[in-house]
Amino acid sequence: MNQGYKPQYYIEDHHEGIVFKEDFEKVQEILQAKSFESKKGRIKRYPFTSRVVCSSCGKNFHRFKNHKGKVSWRCHSSQKSKLLCNTGAIDEERIEKLLIEGFEKRYNMNQRSNDGLLIKQLIKELDSAEGVREREQNLLRVELEKCLIAENKAILQSLDIEALKERRKAVEDEIFNKTKLWEEFDKDHAFREASLNRLKDLNGSDKGIKNILDISFMRAWVIRITVESPFLFTIKWIDGEETVVGRLKGGLINGSK
Ligand SMILES: [Zn+2]
Repeated sequence: MNQGYKPQYYIEDHHEGIVFKEDFEKVQEILQAKSFESKKGRIKRYPFTSRVVCSSCGKNFHRFKNHKGKVSWRCHSSQKSKLLCNTGAIDEERIEKLLIEGFEKRYNMNQRSNDGLLIKQLIKELDSAEGVREREQNLLRVELEKCLIAENKAILQSLDIEALKERRKAVEDEIFNKTKLWEEFDKDHAFREASLNRLKDLNGSDKGIKNILDISFMRAWVIRITVESPFLFTIKWIDGEETVVGRLKGGLINGSK
């Protein structure tokens, strides 16, 4: 298919052509990857399904409900056998508590004066989140194409291309790393929309925000929760920032044990 077409900067049968052609094709593959089309998902029944990850074995946490109706989350490996992973179960209440802690930390909520600026900021973030993500992706695509063109020019002029190649690989890596985040981000459209509506219902007042900080609301900002231990989480937000919440077991700050 389309065998005859070659962009003008592709140089066939050049002396470095073989390596070069592979690089060229790899870049095209990245640029045309399916993940560039955004897929908007629906709200899941359990907001944290497939978003809570065990740092010790890399598996997701799954939700359990005991006969008394208490809900907890367990790492998939440790649920199979404690020999595979010994990360303990976490009560859903604790996940919510740590998330609130993280959200308050991220937005300095305890040092604010209810001046209406926080609610404005939150609404703006959700309103512009998709545009920000698109822009980030487009900038990286343009950057990658620029790298490829520069590399081709250098080859034509028989210049050293090592530095240019390094630069291109760095951009490729960045795209690769971000692709997973972008995919997860796209699936959360419905959460962002629901949270946005709840914020708008507060009619511009910061005071009500604390009352709507539940799992489903905060989920709009959360890309992933990495469980370092049942008491210590790293929360990754939609803008790629991270917040560490909870405490180290034994309290490293105070010394030992
Ligand atoms: Zn685990």
